[in-house]
Amino acid sequence: MIYLDNSATTRIDDDVLEAMMPWLRDEYGNASSIYASGRRARVAIESARTAIATAMNAHPAEIIFTSGGTESNNAILKSVCSESALADRLAVAATEHHAVLHPAETLQQQGVPLTILPVDRSGRVDQGQLTPLNVPRTLVSIMHANNETGTIQPLAEIRRGVPNAYLHSDAVQTFGKIPIDVQALGVDFLSVSAHKIHGPKGIGAMFIRKGIDFKSHQQGGGQERNRRAGTEPVALIVGFAQAVKSAMEQMDQRAAQMRTLITTAREIIQKEIPDVRLNTPSDSALPNILNVSFVDADRIDGEAIIQSMDIAGIAVSNGSACVSGSQQPSHVLLAMGLTASESRAAVRFSVSKYTTQQEIYQACTILSEIVRKLRGATHN
Ligand code: PLP
Repeated sequence: MIYLDNSATTRIDDDVLEAMMPWLRDEYGNASSIYASGRRARVAIESARTAIATAMNAHPAEIIFTSGGTESNNAILKSVCSESALADRLAVAATEHHAVLHPAETLQQQGVPLTILPVDRSGRVDQGQLTPLNVPRTLVSIMHANNETGTIQPLAEIRRGVPNAYLHSDAVQTFGKIPIDVQALGVDFLSVSAHKIHGPKGIGAMFIRKGIDFKSHQQGGGQERNRRAGTEPVALIVGFAQAVKSAMEQMDQRAAQMRTLITTAREIIQKEIPDVRLNTPSDSALPNILNVSFVDADRIDGEAIIQSMDIAGIAVSNGSACVSGSQQPSHVLLAMGLTASESRAAVRFSVSKYTTQQEIYQACTILSEIVRKLRGATHN
């Protein structure tokens, strides 16, 4: 299989798995227990917390482990607008992941006024819309980079536009891939996840700026400073930290390698496939994503492309949800001004450090053949 769906998830690294194994097999103590094996688990968790905090220039006390990006986003939006009652209105970008959009819609149904911030053709938030949101008791949630297109939002600039509001960012796609400094970005909350950077699935974290009175909507034990009840999954936490350490050490090298692969894909696709639209901006985008759609999209079935690529042994996606067998247009591409058919027929390549140039050549050649066939079929 040629795996080009690394924005969905990544292969776990061997050293991550090795770091986790003792905590799955022999070291099964509960980190809340006061005897020796519990204390060892506690030490492992706190050392992982420090590694993750350091990677984003936060204090360890500002890091709370969760089950992943989805939980972090839900917990932050719901806590800020409900349990903690810190904000009584909310604004999110139109291109947010459903793990932000859906809780935002639920809060709206519960009476929290919601503003959906429009984006431009490249997917960047229209900063002119921020001025009315620069008031206290407002939560602005804008993702660091988009999972379908790779578009990076200028978060530090956005922060300068709303200094009086709370600012949250879903950084699931950026953490470990591009530098994140929570002080420089000025965010109050951040959501991150392990499985996009060769860590295990089911573990993530939230950054909650020191001094914020954050009340958890999940009740139970007093773990994670009363901010996330539940026995800590030591092995997952240790694996997350190992993945983050490697990602930080190898960030420049991985980014350069992935950028070269994406540039190659860009060049081949542009040369070999007529009437193609590149939805990933060439500046200010993640190094590992390329999203393409087709000008004559009404003649091309997006699902057929993905299925034909699958039959050819290539795993790609379009990033948008497939509901009961009918491909829904991507809300991200619609927000960027593409038509419904263009937003339905998109293809996303997302690479990792394991992807090779040969795989990119092969995938681009096969994509170009599939598109040619689909276009030919509609002529007959
Ligand atoms: N936010 C973004 C931007 C994502 O890409 C994803 C994963 O696809 C999530 C949130 C959800 O993260 P997790 O799978 O860790 O729950």
